[in-house]
Amino acid sequence: MTYEDLAQVHTDEYLDKIATSSFSAFEVIQLEIPYSEQAREGLMLMCGGTLLAGRLALEHGCAAHLGGGFHHAFASHGEGFCLLNDVAVAARVLIAGSKIERVAVVDLDVHQGNGTAAIFADDQSVFTFSMHQENNYPAEKPPSDLDLGLDDHASDEVYLDLLSEHLPKVLEGHDPDLVFYLAGADPYRDDQLGGLGLTLEGLRRRDQFVYDSVRDRDTALAVVLAGGYAFRSEETVAIHVATIEELVSRFAV
Ligand SMILES: [Zn+2]
Repeated sequence: MTYEDLAQVHTDEYLDKIATSSFSAFEVIQLEIPYSEQAREGLMLMCGGTLLAGRLALEHGCAAHLGGGFHHAFASHGEGFCLLNDVAVAARVLIAGSKIERVAVVDLDVHQGNGTAAIFADDQSVFTFSMHQENNYPAEKPPSDLDLGLDDHASDEVYLDLLSEHLPKVLEGHDPDLVFYLAGADPYRDDQLGGLGLTLEGLRRRDQFVYDSVRDRDTALAVVLAGGYAFRSEETVAIHVATIEELVSRFAV
């Protein structure tokens, strides 16, 4: 990932802080991760992985990056574990390279995609859709093109009904060339940072519905993992594994 690519989304001033590790104490607290050159290198690599997944999706129909989904990173600051907004950078770089004209971001992490929403607020080429727990971080939620804020402890049925009502309309209305799907594991009912009531099976059905909806339209799909903080970490792993299993079973030829 080059600074030139990152500058498609992030401000020069912010990239300069990243390059020179010159964050204020407040900025590090807001970022919520210890900042170091190693962290920077790892997160830039992570950002490149999402761009590569986007490129491979356009070439092969779908691709998954076992990482990414840093949707709380804004153009000029990082927060909530997110330094660089990998999905936003990938969308902008791919559109700027004239490979594609329209992208949809389908963000099903339990937390609202505040950074992504703010970055694309005035950009019609990228549709931002976030379905999240309303009563959760971030406290301030800049509007996405479509925000669906769920009540605490919302069940599989409530969640999947809402998703199946809205996702097809998003895809129909925006007609994207590429979808970035943030398959967050944190809507899980036993997540430490989430407060929704989805089961392991419900999350699997969520992924299936997203994949079927995108595949029906013959749209390229890039999957990133986003958040996941189950009390039993093996359950976060199981949710991510199911996301990949379902992708393979639906798109493999
Ligand atoms: Zn999250």
